Amino acid sequence: MFDFKAPQDDILFSLVHVADAARIDSWDSDMATDIIGHFSNLAEGVIAPLNASGDAQGARLEQGRVRMPDGFKNAYLQLADDGWQGLTAPESFGGMGVSPAIAAGVSEIFSGANHALQMVCNLVPGAITTLRRFGTPSQQQDWIPRLASGEALSTMCLSEPSAGSDLSTIRCRARTTETGWQIDGEKIFISGGDQDMSDTILHLVLARTGTDEDGIRGLSLFLCGAQPAISVTRIEDKMGLHASPTCQLRFDAAAAELVGQEGEGLKAMFTLMNHARIDVALQGVAHASRAAQIARLYTAERRQGRTQKGETAMLADHADVQRMLDEQAILAIGARAMCHIALVELELGTRPALAEFLTPLCKVFGSQAGIRSADLGIQLLGGYGYLREYAVEQHWRDARIAAIYEGANGIHEKTLVTRGLRQGGGADEFAALIGELADDATAIEPVFTEWQSLRTKLSRDQDPLPAAHDFAALSAKLYLQACWQRIGHMAHHHPEPQYLSHLANKTAA
Ligand SMILES: Cc1cc2nc3c(=O)[nH]c(=O)nc-3n(C[C@H](O)[C@H](O)[C@H](O)COP(=O)(O)OP(=O)(O)OC[C@H]3O[C@@H](n4cnc5c(N)ncnc54)[C@H](O)[C@@H]3O)c2cc1C
Repeated sequence: MFDFKAPQDDILFSLVHVADAARIDSWDSDMATDIIGHFSNLAEGVIAPLNASGDAQGARLEQGRVRMPDGFKNAYLQLADDGWQGLTAPESFGGMGVSPAIAAGVSEIFSGANHALQMVCNLVPGAITTLRRFGTPSQQQDWIPRLASGEALSTMCLSEPSAGSDLSTIRCRARTTETGWQIDGEKIFISGGDQDMSDTILHLVLARTGTDEDGIRGLSLFLCGAQPAISVTRIEDKMGLHASPTCQLRFDAAAAELVGQEGEGLKAMFTLMNHARIDVALQGVAHASRAAQIARLYTAERRQGRTQKGETAMLADHADVQRMLDEQAILAIGARAMCHIALVELELGTRPALAEFLTPLCKVFGSQAGIRSADLGIQLLGGYGYLREYAVEQHWRDARIAAIYEGANGIHEKTLVTRGLRQGGGADEFAALIGELADDATAIEPVFTEWQSLRTKLSRDQDPLPAAHDFAALSAKLYLQACWQRIGHMAHHHPEPQYLSHLANKTAA
């Protein structure tokens, strides 16, 4: 096992020099270095050491309560005490008011160190944003300080046995009573539906206030504090993320408060989706980066075979091993750049159609990059990759979910080829962005020309859906190539400029 080392330099290089985050008003490079440095210490010293043990022990359901693996509660209390749960919350609510771009760096490090714990803690920024946009002043006062201090963790209760990708069939029902709203029904797959780390839990629940025929227009958003009327009926036995409790929740006349307008629940949920999707893409980046880190260390140390000159070789001396190491690094660094550029666009808010176009692209590519890099990591470590000892197999198992939750990748590909191509100039702005990132237009021209012609064809097609996957893959290939031109151009700001230039040249080839 190699100790987790937070990729601080890579993240700061990407935010500052590739994505040019200084364009965001609230950005402060010194603060970013400081915050990412401090969090790296916590991740390396406290959070990452619990990753393998948490995976082995798993979360358990005991007498109706979820018990997190040993050590998780203490790690969480330290996180909360240090204020990390309130990183992006406004100072007026007890938070630190830090830019989401800095928080993205922290979040990636958290996921690389321990995805299972990250996903239970990292629903909080989204919950705070939802309450700020849609909650009443009293709901905000009641919950945001508790979320920011770590007293409360939050959940996002959407999925039901018959409502997964298609939320229009949600059956959980909310009704008004003399004492206020009450919710009845069942939710499944709820991350952190219960845990023993925070004093209380805020559940954000999508429930039906209209008729079944109203579809998504009959859905409203509610908040419920933890209460005996909300019980955990089981936790799922999963291929990965064993330490993250994925709960089935039963609501029996649970007291609830309406958040926002009746019938506008999905709209409220979707306002926080773009950031959440980039966060999931960065979970993929985190796995890609950590698997690359493990493989690079391992292949530099293990002697196998001979070099062309007949000398004892390290694994990394073999051309095919180098090919796989390069692919991992290209995926990790490239996907990170794609996400950071998208995030900066989201924060600037000047090209909303571009941000809409980039978000599903990042979600799909980032999640796939994590799975692919972890898979290469297993191959690179040979038989040891298949064992638990070096934990690349855990990264492969844990990374897999990112292509499924927060909207399955197929749905994002569909969005790209429908809304992305037909609404508001997102594809034009994407084409312009490619030009801004790539100063050598000839190097990307073959892919760019292919993309333009597919884009033109699909925007006229009656039914572009059968080509949705191909279009997403081609768009990602183009975006990755353009990002790597930018990375190559800025390589002199990175601690390993020659390595980055080598990877940039390979991507252009
Ligand atoms: C570990 C874990 C944690 C989760 N956490 C949460 C949580 O905190 N809160 C919550 O509410 N839910 C959560 N989920 C649920 C998750 O969001 C759903 O699993 C996901 O939305 C897919 O729904 P489904 O499983 O019903 O798959 P289905 O909807 O049955 O889809 C199966 C597959 O069919 C394809 N597909 C389906 N519909 C379409 C379409 N319209 N277009 C193209 N392809 C399509 C996709 O490839 C998809 O992967 C979690 C799930 C897991 C496993």
